[in-house]
Amino acid sequence: AEEMLIRSEKMSVAGQLAAGVAHEIRNPLTSLKGFIQLLQAGIDKKDEYYKIMIDEINKIDTITSELLFISKPMTDEKKFEKLSFMLKDVVTLLRSQAKLYNIEINLQIEKERMIFCDRTQIKQVLINLIKNAVEEMKEGGTINVVAQSNETNCFISIIDEGPGIPEHILHKLREPFFTTKKDGTGLGLMISYKIIENHQGSIEIQQNKGKGSTFQIILPINHE
Ligand code: ADP
Ligand code: MG
Repeated sequence: AEEMLIRSEKMSVAGQLAAGVAHEIRNPLTSLKGFIQLLQAGIDKKDEYYKIMIDEINKIDTITSELLFISKPMTDEKKFEKLSFMLKDVVTLLRSQAKLYNIEINLQIEKERMIFCDRTQIKQVLINLIKNAVEEMKEGGTINVVAQSNETNCFISIIDEGPGIPEHILHKLREPFFTTKKDGTGLGLMISYKIIENHQGSIEIQQNKGKGSTFQIILPINHE
């Protein structure tokens, strides 16, 4: 992995992706092959092996669906959408899942805004960022989702109480396949940046004073 990271700095995004995909898919495939050989040899502990094999197949499945999402041309289905609807949909979707980890998600919308955007894509970004927050908060706590705006921009902050992001990995976050998680794909942030840039916006990362980090989505407000 170290070698890949060094090489990746000299490669195009497409090149990084291709190298990453090959690598990420070969590992579970190698493992699958090994287990099939064990089963062919008539080994016991079959159930245990089947379980691992299904996990490996699921891993490939997750990677390929995220890649399909990236490779889809960004069809512009942009319309004026109510900010509050998108936020409420996503928060409602994730709240019950977060509860299982003792995490509350608070939503605070200062002012209703119409955002010219592809609703599905923006919801995907919100899901990616809130999920990342949930995944870092091993001890539970509160995630605050706050939407503010001025005349030209809308600011959506996802404020978590996780461990924060070590300085030395900050520049790697948007690289494809960069992950610090055992089951991570490292594609969520890359996809999120791509979507937000497709909306002429940006994502800012801040470390919180007390604990955790804030991911802020900035989107331009186009007036109707
Ligand atoms: P994945 O979630 O599959 O690891 P992402 O692209 O979503 O991939 O995130 C890449 C990495 O960025 C994570 O593995 C984690 O190290 C870091 N990260 C993302 N969000 C946060 C957060 N809210 N707090 C701390 N680290 C984060
Ligand atoms: Mg993620």
